[in-house]
Amino acid sequence: MDFEAYFKSELDAVRDEGRYRIFTEIERHRGAFPHATRYVGDTTQDVTVWCSNDYLGMGQHPVVIDAMHKVLDECGAGAGGTRNISGTNHHHVLLERELADLHHKEAALLFTSGYVSNWAGLGTLANRIPGCVVFSDALNHASMIEGIRHSRAPYKIWEHNSPEGLDRHLSQFGPEVPKLVAFESVYSMDGDIAPIAEILDVCEAHGAMSYIDEVHAVGLYGPRGGGVAEREGLMDRITVIEGTLGKAFGVMGGYIAASEKLCDFVRSFASGFIFTTALPPALAAGAAASIRHLKASNVERDRQKDRVATVRRRLDMLGIPHLPNPSHIIPVMVGDAHKCKRISDWLMDNHGIYVQPINYPTVPRGTERLRLTPSPVHSDGDIDRLIDALSDIWSQCELARRAIAA
Ligand code: PMP
Repeated sequence: MDFEAYFKSELDAVRDEGRYRIFTEIERHRGAFPHATRYVGDTTQDVTVWCSNDYLGMGQHPVVIDAMHKVLDECGAGAGGTRNISGTNHHHVLLERELADLHHKEAALLFTSGYVSNWAGLGTLANRIPGCVVFSDALNHASMIEGIRHSRAPYKIWEHNSPEGLDRHLSQFGPEVPKLVAFESVYSMDGDIAPIAEILDVCEAHGAMSYIDEVHAVGLYGPRGGGVAEREGLMDRITVIEGTLGKAFGVMGGYIAASEKLCDFVRSFASGFIFTTALPPALAAGAAASIRHLKASNVERDRQKDRVATVRRRLDMLGIPHLPNPSHIIPVMVGDAHKCKRISDWLMDNHGIYVQPINYPTVPRGTERLRLTPSPVHSDGDIDRLIDALSDIWSQCELARRAIAA
């Protein structure tokens, strides 16, 4: 086989569909977020980032940076090993305690990323519980889907956010079958939120374990940033809460929080936990500082809510279509991969506004979009510039559409 020719033809096909991914190279600067420097060859451009998952700006927060500096100086760069072979640092243990407390669980277990925590956590439970059947929401994240597939356990996909659909699927199995129900709280591309209480009612009626991915919710929802389940007083009813340290907490890493026994089980059998180097201690300390800060402070969450509401209101005034949802994610709908990319390029080139186009397979074809994530550090001026630019490009698109129609 001519491997190089094969690689090229596959890449060309993606390019023809307008969904070839090109990195946007930026440098974030301490204290300057959402402003950053973009590198294009030998030149640079000042940009405002509108598509970051550093939802609360904690990646630039002094509390986090200072904690990381301190532990970097005290402990050095790397963990020095896997968790079982010399790599368990005191700061990992402190962070796991912080996470268990955040979710009102007996224990928590750290992973390299949110992706790995889903892949390894869900995969290990599904694989190691004899006869386990997994019930997965139709819009679950790739990391959960890969974990379920990798487990080789049988699985059923239930209709997105439908407790009735879940109930129908669960009803097909007798009480003797171990069942694991996997879903998210905030879905990252549409920004919709699961009816968690109703889903838990169904899980409990069928004796199923519940596994919730709160990656796009931890830090952001609930009085202490414990996620949507905390906000709704449901954490105690959920078997496993999974989250990331890489989005609202501003650092990197993932985790599950659950009973002591369940965490010990995953710790003892998950290859994605056992056979990989532990997170750098400084990173663990930064994440713990971020969690502690957001447990005590609503300042960032309140300000973010205000920024999100302001951007939504201004889009509505201009008639720019965006998916209505009860979360902090604003999907501005474009509906065509090429057009989405052209708008994104135009915003960047003419206004230094950075919004990555979201294409298939992340979202279904025909629903391509610009996903805006307003944060507490976006100023009124930033919002004015975004809205003016969007208004400009939208009227150009409207004019073009009318010209074609005529
Ligand atoms: N779950 C969901 C729902 C996600 O959207 C993502 C990442 N976008 C992950 C898990 C993975 O988290 P991480 O980025 O920490 O690997």
